[in-house]
Amino acid sequence: MALAIGSGNSFLLRMRRRPVRSALIGLAIWFLAALLWFAWTFAPIRLDVPKIDVGALPPATPPAAMSISALPTGTYQTPAALAFRGGSWTEKRAFAATGILVRHPKGDLLIDTGFGRHVERQLKLLPSLQQSPHHLGTPIVDQLARMPSDTVTAILPTHAHWDHISGVDDFRGIPVLVNDAGQRFIGSHGEGTEVLNSFHGVIYRPYHFDGGSYLGFPSSHDVYGDGSVVIVPAPGHTPDSVIVFVNLPSGKRYAFIGDLVWQMEGLTRPAEKPWMMRFLIGEDRSEIRTAIARIRAATALYPQITAIPAHDTRAFASIAIYPASTR
Ligand SMILES: [Zn+2]
Repeated sequence: MALAIGSGNSFLLRMRRRPVRSALIGLAIWFLAALLWFAWTFAPIRLDVPKIDVGALPPATPPAAMSISALPTGTYQTPAALAFRGGSWTEKRAFAATGILVRHPKGDLLIDTGFGRHVERQLKLLPSLQQSPHHLGTPIVDQLARMPSDTVTAILPTHAHWDHISGVDDFRGIPVLVNDAGQRFIGSHGEGTEVLNSFHGVIYRPYHFDGGSYLGFPSSHDVYGDGSVVIVPAPGHTPDSVIVFVNLPSGKRYAFIGDLVWQMEGLTRPAEKPWMMRFLIGEDRSEIRTAIARIRAATALYPQITAIPAHDTRAFASIAIYPASTR
């Protein structure tokens, strides 16, 4: 023991005699610790989600003529490691930019717009870090032009980020549904709203979460009044983020969860996005964790509900590609 104390004293003495060297050693230790922590934020740690009671399956009486179609407009490439904790750095994921057309007798609704005609110009408005290599397909406005009977009467973005609203500019005069948080978020002109705010003459049609709780979410908004399309607030990725439940005449149900998670692993493992991505976006971790728990609980209890992360190309497999449709 005496020897140990003596050694410690002499070490401290040497530290005092060589302050620059000691400072450098301290800095190196700090840097190494920060590096190890940063690497750990990409490690495959299972997200701890709370237990949720989602209640009864909400009623829905969709009209027989209602159907949905998927309209892919392209993809952008992202390493799996940046999409969810535990993802591989060598595996590249093609992030989907896909809209969903809901055909309904009361008017067709477009959920997210994918890439629009002017995506190249819009990308220049974004920080360079967000400008991933992308592959462009046909914009939705041009896909719809082939079938004149399909007329979009409203656009419902899952949130205001560029990759979900890029095509809004192609649908001038068509109202964009926006909730209270969305009006504040877009009105703040903050990061993430650059592209939407660059459009001129967008007609926003406000909606409110005036309905009761829905599958564990505290409130809801029924778009058509028949339970076929119900929006719930799911802030976290952005303040205006929503989940759109679409309930088809066949009994099949979908939850379009936007960017709550980017790939299915976010729900199935569950795994959150790496810290760096959450930090850069400014996500609210606690809100996201709760929403993930609700969606996991709802899909586990009611297997007729399929959750679709907006950027997971595999998730869209059960939805017919436009102009075919799923009922
Ligand atoms: Zn997105």
